[in-house]
Amino acid sequence: MNNIVISVKDLVKDYGDFQAVKSISFDVHEGEIFGLLGPNGAGKSTTLEIIETLRIKTSGTVIVDGIDLDKHPSAIKKIIGVQLQTSGFYPGLNLVELIKLFCGLYNTSVDPMELLKKVNLQDKAKNKVKELSGGQKQRFSIATTLINKPKIVFLDEPTTGLDPQARRNLWDLIREIRDNGATVILTTHYMDEAEQLCDRIAIIDEGKIVKLASPEKMIDELVESGFERPKQMKAANLEDVFIHLTGKEMREA
Ligand code: ADP
Ligand code: MG
Repeated sequence: MNNIVISVKDLVKDYGDFQAVKSISFDVHEGEIFGLLGPNGAGKSTTLEIIETLRIKTSGTVIVDGIDLDKHPSAIKKIIGVQLQTSGFYPGLNLVELIKLFCGLYNTSVDPMELLKKVNLQDKAKNKVKELSGGQKQRFSIATTLINKPKIVFLDEPTTGLDPQARRNLWDLIREIRDNGATVILTTHYMDEAEQLCDRIAIIDEGKIVKLASPEKMIDELVESGFERPKQMKAANLEDVFIHLTGKEMREA
């Protein structure tokens, strides 16, 4: 088994007298894509933002790459990449200028064009974020998480609202980030996405982890328990039809 790169123990988050995260514990292994799944309000973003040092926990321990969140939060910040909402980017700057701005913030340097090439946005270098399609915006915000060459990348609903082609394109990008050595922790509402992309997933409901395993293991266990689908599935679904008819290539570029 790979090294543990994030260790969360008995994490609790109270908002006033409402407990959003109810003593959850989990480990993320180095080099995996780890998914947090759960209905709206389950506590996924709260959990991620605590690990990202952006939110204060009520209690529990969080260790990131051996660094204790309580002791050295700024050391954690240096080794992680966090996807921001694209609405938060300075509207007046183009993509290259934004990357240079981030380099200044992180006190590092990257070749903006090389980074844009990685996410297939080299043709949009001089465009502003508002001129990008939904999928392109997401790819750009993921690119900005890579600027400080992070060990761990956090993506909160990276594919929400995208069309099937753009989602597949992002899956490839996320796998590439993992294959280049980073650990990825993401949230999603799409079960097919979690099944295809995540090595392991934690299902969170009302602030508690109800299951943590690989997608295959979860499915096998349910089948072994005697579960049967009410209607026999066909060998393809409507999304397969859609992709077959409209192709896998991105449309917006
Ligand atoms: P998820 O990302 O799984 O949809 P969140 O972590 O955003 O869930 O929210 C978990 C719960 O905590 C929700 O009920 C939400 O309304 C509540 N919550 C989130 N942020 C705050 C806040 N700043 N103040 C009060 N309640 C909050
Ligand atoms: Mg959320």
